[in-house]
Amino acid sequence: MFQGSTIEISSEALQANLAFIGKVLGKAQLCSVVKGNAYGHGINVFTPMAAQLGVTRFAVYSASEAWQLHGRLPAGCELFIMGDVDGSALEWAVEQGISFSVFDNARLEHAIAAGRRTGKKALAHLEVETGMHRTGFEMEFFGEVLQRCKTDADAIEVAGICTHLAGAENRSNAERVLGQKVRFREALAMAGKTGSGPGMRHAACSAVSLNEPDMLYDMARIGILQYGFWPNRETQERYSEQHGMVEDPLRRVIRWWSRVMSVSTLPAGGFVGYGATFNAEAGTRIATIPMGYAYGYARSLSNAGQVLIRGQLAPVRGIVNMNCITVDVTGIEGVEKGDEAVLIGTQGERSISVASFGDLSDQLNYELLTRLPHDIPRVVVEKHI
Ligand SMILES: *Cc1c(COP(=O)(O)O)cnc(C)c1O
Repeated sequence: MFQGSTIEISSEALQANLAFIGKVLGKAQLCSVVKGNAYGHGINVFTPMAAQLGVTRFAVYSASEAWQLHGRLPAGCELFIMGDVDGSALEWAVEQGISFSVFDNARLEHAIAAGRRTGKKALAHLEVETGMHRTGFEMEFFGEVLQRCKTDADAIEVAGICTHLAGAENRSNAERVLGQKVRFREALAMAGKTGSGPGMRHAACSAVSLNEPDMLYDMARIGILQYGFWPNRETQERYSEQHGMVEDPLRRVIRWWSRVMSVSTLPAGGFVGYGATFNAEAGTRIATIPMGYAYGYARSLSNAGQVLIRGQLAPVRGIVNMNCITVDVTGIEGVEKGDEAVLIGTQGERSISVASFGDLSDQLNYELLTRLPHDIPRVVVEKHI
């Protein structure tokens, strides 16, 4: 069946990224973060591919994501729900041996009750509030929480103690990060005293792993890096400088392409598409691509985005429509219907990074990737052409 566009994900690229991450993490274990539809890469396709490459721990945000993955992963893989798991979903998770974060008393009680009812211990990662101010037990109550886990050890197991650091990708947040480190260490010391857990100690995301290696502990929750992106430019520069790294070790796992649907000529003085945002000064060859904002190609890329056709950059002319875009192929020899048009990724010698696409559309890599529509088919390729 013909599809408007296809997303290819490369196992070779992921393998290269995992090798780099392995170096960064040292002894700490990798927990692969596949929330947000695996950052747009397609959770159902990306995760089994990562498992095949040897990844055994995966973190999702919600029980529904865990549900999607359940049964698709080889035996021995572990799932961790970082956020949303409530009501009957929590009991399901306990039954399935899926671990989840516990950050307030209501969930603690619920987990213990579920553990008792199912006869399986709830696998809890106790989340400590260290300064992110999102979720987590306040330090002053953490002692009681640990005690409670010890008392009810027949129903709940402290699978881990964790926190999340805010803004470690920017040096300007150094003070806040330091405060979080100090509080996390206190929490771990408390666990040591109570004799509950600590199970796996984890606090690091991609930026923390790169910038604050003393926070690696037993496990790191890595998202953006495994997909081949740096958390931000500052982190890339800082890490490269510190490690004398000249070449970027990361490879983009994603490549997103569509095809030219038709080619036409716009006479000098003509306008393309709706409105009058692009007026051709001279005769212009226009290629139409069946890719619009309804499919994840941001409207803000109107007269700003670029695609690759026959290895050359073709700028978007006029407004991004709901279902199509028009690009200028005047300078590109022989463009015809059916030619591949790359929206993100490499073609020939050139590439369009999500970052530059993202700068243009004023979004971060994270946001742009996760907004790629779920119904674009994802296919695994060994390597991108
Ligand atoms: C998303 C997320 C991560 C991964 O962050 P990256 O910057 O993509 O590595 C880690 N921990 C938590 C709690 C998260 O929500």
